[in-house]
Amino acid sequence: MPELRKDYFTNRLVLVSPERTRRPSDFIRKEGDPLTLPANDCPFCPGNEIMTPAAELVLVSRGDTLLKLADSENDRVEGWSVRFFPNKFPAVSPDSEAKYSDAPIQGEPAFGYHHVMIVTPHHEATYFDLPVGQWIDVLATIQDRVRYLYSKKTVSYVSVFVNSGSEAGASFSHPHLQTLTLTKLPPLIEEEAETMHLEMVELSQCSMCRVLQLETNGPRKILQTDNFVAFAPWASTNAYEFWIFPKRHETSFLKVSQKEINDLATILRATLGALGAALSKPAFNLAFHISSEKKTTKQIHWHLEIYPQVVKWAGLEKGSGVYINPVSPESAAEVLGAAARRELAEIIGIS
Ligand SMILES: [Zn+2]
Ligand SMILES: [Zn+2]
Repeated sequence: MPELRKDYFTNRLVLVSPERTRRPSDFIRKEGDPLTLPANDCPFCPGNEIMTPAAELVLVSRGDTLLKLADSENDRVEGWSVRFFPNKFPAVSPDSEAKYSDAPIQGEPAFGYHHVMIVTPHHEATYFDLPVGQWIDVLATIQDRVRYLYSKKTVSYVSVFVNSGSEAGASFSHPHLQTLTLTKLPPLIEEEAETMHLEMVELSQCSMCRVLQLETNGPRKILQTDNFVAFAPWASTNAYEFWIFPKRHETSFLKVSQKEINDLATILRATLGALGAALSKPAFNLAFHISSEKKTTKQIHWHLEIYPQVVKWAGLEKGSGVYINPVSPESAAEVLGAAARRELAEIIGIS
């Protein structure tokens, strides 16, 4: 029965999910590590679909058309491009029976839905070489599922994130991402929304649009396309961290057009390709920062954040919320920018 607990003093939230790990020995990596599973034994590979829960959405391309299908309990759709199914070990649950409690030991049931999306049928593929066309399918599926999840009653926020590589928390090497819904806005999104709201009220402008103006032609820019810009943020907490923003002020990820999806796929392919090339395929996390689609004034200019795991957070970071970054965002942008421009030239060359 997963529980959502709030820190005694700060806004930090913790999902206490005992179902995810049943024994302390589960924390110890042993032989038969899923990260090194061959395709034959990989539950995310074509042919092994029965090893996962039935998929609620399966994307299959037939010629020029994309079909949205679903598995049945005993039968699985074959020939797919993307699959989306419930996580076998969810960190939240629609029927959690955890108790409500008040501050200072504030807690509530962690109601929600936790899913896995397999982003390619190819076991050996990586996020560093996922083709633009595949990204388009993935982004369209994310949009579809985020819309669906927001239609659920207990959902205030849909978190979409990638764990790639064991240092980034991945349990399987086969490229996948996760969605997890929350009953309230996560603290980071809430903080961004509050800053944006204040600046909107005081200066009638979006604080994130202002940042974009500043970063689009500055020393931290990595790459821009027609509709998006990638840059290393001024106060990156991770070495080589970068963010991808839509240039057009848009709070809803659901309102991103097909043309913009195509463009986002291109900049993702180019920047992640650059990350792989420049740092020999490091472990990384990627997170969507989107607005809640529920009625609220707390909106943000949606964007993506990518956190390479090349330097470990240690005592200062964990103990104080102050981060040491040994790579200046300006030099990160220089390295990633040069590599991303090469990747983009190659993508445009072949498309
Ligand atoms: Zn696989
Ligand atoms: Zn904006």
